[in-house]
Amino acid sequence: MLPAVGRPADELLAELGKLTAADLPTRGGRTAAYVYDSGRPEVRAAAEQAYVAMMEVNGLDPTAFPSIVALERSVVGAVAARLGGDAATPGIFTSGGTESIILAVKAARDARPEVRDPKIVVPVTAHAAFHKAGRYLGVRVDAVPVDPTTFRADPAATAAACDDSTVLVVVSAPSYAHGVVDPVAEIAALAAERGLPCHVDACVGGWLLPWLAEAGADIAPFDLSVPGVTSLSCDLHKFGYAPKGASVLLFRDEAMRRAAYYACAGWPGYTVVNSTIQSSKGAGPLAGAWATLQALGADGYRELGRATLAATRRLIDGVDAIDGLTVLGSPDASLVAIGSDTLDLFALADAARERGFYLQPQLSLGADLPANLHLTLTGVSEQGVDALLAVIAEAAEAVRPLGPPVPSPDLVGLVAEIDFTDLDDASFAALLPAVGFDPSGADAGKMAAVNRLLDALPPATREVIVTRFLSALYSPHLGG
Ligand SMILES: *Cc1c(COP(=O)(O)O)cnc(C)c1O
Repeated sequence: MLPAVGRPADELLAELGKLTAADLPTRGGRTAAYVYDSGRPEVRAAAEQAYVAMMEVNGLDPTAFPSIVALERSVVGAVAARLGGDAATPGIFTSGGTESIILAVKAARDARPEVRDPKIVVPVTAHAAFHKAGRYLGVRVDAVPVDPTTFRADPAATAAACDDSTVLVVVSAPSYAHGVVDPVAEIAALAAERGLPCHVDACVGGWLLPWLAEAGADIAPFDLSVPGVTSLSCDLHKFGYAPKGASVLLFRDEAMRRAAYYACAGWPGYTVVNSTIQSSKGAGPLAGAWATLQALGADGYRELGRATLAATRRLIDGVDAIDGLTVLGSPDASLVAIGSDTLDLFALADAARERGFYLQPQLSLGADLPANLHLTLTGVSEQGVDALLAVIAEAAEAVRPLGPPVPSPDLVGLVAEIDFTDLDDASFAALLPAVGFDPSGADAGKMAAVNRLLDALPPATREVIVTRFLSALYSPHLGG
């Protein structure tokens, strides 16, 4: 509600404090997804001050605000220098991994205008952002099976999927779901043999893997130094520890960067030329990313990388020692997927959340990709990893009597029969208590029943349901 009379800032901040009290903690490593905490107050302060200082500068027009060109060149240059490029490597600063990926796919599509029904070839483990890019850009997505044991992309299957309509081949370094690095060199080479560009999705790993390698991890080459790699995305709002809204997209070739750009002179207003999807945009995220890189420096990232690797090794050993839990594949970074044949992982996630730790449920996909719990460990995880392991062990004991997850067959049947096209948001919200979701929002951490149900449904039905859920959530029908 808009107040009739403006309110003082301290009152507004107090209100924000109350609102965020119910959120997952963004600092301290207890939220093992979504947030990346460097654990350094002075770095956070530098980022915050730089962000606020540049908040009103508009990235729409770099000739009006030359500061954004200087900052972007500095940030892109720093990332390129660490990832197989140099000061001349073309890049774009974007709002996040999804935008970097959409632009990489747009560039690949627009670089080959003669291809009539373009498609990209991705491993089935590739991030959802590639599917989103495909949908937004009218590009087909050919999702190829991966090795069912290692969860890495399969070069032979990738090669077999490449055809005349292919405009881009994709690999991950690492994948989000399983944290494993695909065979980048092999797949980039087979793409190059066919004259195809190859994008490395290093959104989560680009600013992590090099520091893990320095700390002693065995990391295969994955960046622009690998022949055949033509573009790479690297999010700074993940392991760059920058405030959200920060990613870098690098290209080997300047013509490919131009294919990502957009220009419009076909209207009577100012002539538009954009490097990103957004047009008007605050320079806060760019300044925040720049300040974070400068405040941490190589030695800061090196120390965070060491701590991250130590935490991950402890976690993997600890999880393997818990009866009924296994780590899926062998994680190359600090992203770990915990699987189980005997325990209800969705109930385990709820039990861990009750005990103050958030683990992220990932649903099964087909017969080869089982449901699991995802954890991303960061620089602050080292101090808390023993507490985290204790909570996982305790939660595992708490849910052991339940056995493996079994969705109610009645519910699955019921949901399969619903015609969602004729259901309005109010009626949808009214169904939620029947599937074990509390619409008051009081039981926000209790998601096991919903996850069990979703996991038993085909992905297309899951998509319909979560879309309906989001619409209901932003309407007055849920949460009071
Ligand atoms: C996080 C991530 C993305 C998407 O990034 P957003 O910043 O959430 O848009 C893409 N790929 C991988 C591997 C990621 O981890």
